[in-house]
Amino acid sequence: MVSDFSSRTYLDYAASTPVDPRVLEKMLPYFTDTFGNPSSTHWYGQRSEAAIEAARRQIADVLCIQPEEILFTSGGSESDNLALRGAAWMTRETRGANQILITPVEHPAVAKTARALAAHHGFQLEYAPVDTFGGTTPQDVEPLLRTSTAVVSIIHGNNEIGTINPVAEIAEVCAASSVLLHTDAVQAAAHLPLNLSKIRADLVSLGGHKLHGPKGIGALFVRRGTPLLPILTGGSQEFGLRAGTSNVPLIVGLAEALAITQAELAQTTGKIMAMRNKLVAEVLEAIPDSILTGHPEARLRNHSSFAFKGVNGSELLMLLDGQGFACSSGSACKTGNPEPSETLLALGLAPEWASGSLRVTLGPQTTDAEIQRFLSVLPGVIETARALESQTA
Ligand SMILES: *Cc1c(COP(=O)(O)O)cnc(C)c1O
Repeated sequence: MVSDFSSRTYLDYAASTPVDPRVLEKMLPYFTDTFGNPSSTHWYGQRSEAAIEAARRQIADVLCIQPEEILFTSGGSESDNLALRGAAWMTRETRGANQILITPVEHPAVAKTARALAAHHGFQLEYAPVDTFGGTTPQDVEPLLRTSTAVVSIIHGNNEIGTINPVAEIAEVCAASSVLLHTDAVQAAAHLPLNLSKIRADLVSLGGHKLHGPKGIGALFVRRGTPLLPILTGGSQEFGLRAGTSNVPLIVGLAEALAITQAELAQTTGKIMAMRNKLVAEVLEAIPDSILTGHPEARLRNHSSFAFKGVNGSELLMLLDGQGFACSSGSACKTGNPEPSETLLALGLAPEWASGSLRVTLGPQTTDAEIQRFLSVLPGVIETARALESQTA
């Protein structure tokens, strides 16, 4: 069975997920039958427009917000860009604020956008501290808030290390100082109840393909009254905040995927979390010089991430792929990057640990037998990876 490569095992649900067949079914008519441009005034256009507005309402109902507070984008990355660039530019224009505050463990769509705003647009970039689990608290954030703060961005559920931040509490301190808060909830929305009447964030990023929706679609929650400039200009779609003909089938798919995911959280969490907990305990038990990265409890239900001393993460991924297991290392979507991830270095890990990271993320299709097989293969793979690394060192 171990060498049966027809039975490949996907353990990289934090990177992407298959589209739920119920979502696909709902999307299909909007590729062919209902194809009109939603901006057109005729019957064809109006039918597409109605589908978009139904999707907007569906998302608003799930998140306990108003439909006009949802903008559709091309994905989590664009939502992050629109939130940071749009809020930073508009806040500077209206009240001269020129500082951006993020954490050192943000997704690159936030981290690199904030750095670009500093490098090319004259903003000052500051970092809030994180603890050894990569978590940030309201007490960390509050003293850093100033009238000159244009926007704060703090990740809700971390893609790389799984840690969940207390964004509701962080939002309270930001609101008390009248500072805008953006949170990237692309992972969190797939694994945690998300009620935006309880989280007073001003801007929240969502994405389709991490929650069994399609790729290339996302949404940005923009709380009513939040100052925002568009970053894509042209037609007046999405309340004039995001130009371009709306992607009707993908919008329909995102709404359906989010609604299904959020409705089924309670029934899917127990099984997935039990498998994840067993995986973590057994990896740490079986493999010397191994640690869990990220918070042991306040973490996404399907997420495990490790560091192994003296291992090259890219090599580790190739060895695992050779055994039929798809995992990831660092935050990089690409292998072959020898640099340890910034997120792991921010936790205070030494480079010889941070280079040997492994992320194993489970999904609803993951079985006990697959986890068992993974656990039987991993110790030997780590041994091989360590031997390879000591030869090249
Ligand atoms: C995947 C991901 C993104 C990027 O979303 P895309 O839709 O792939 O652009 C942003 N933030 C987090 C936390 C993610 O996991």
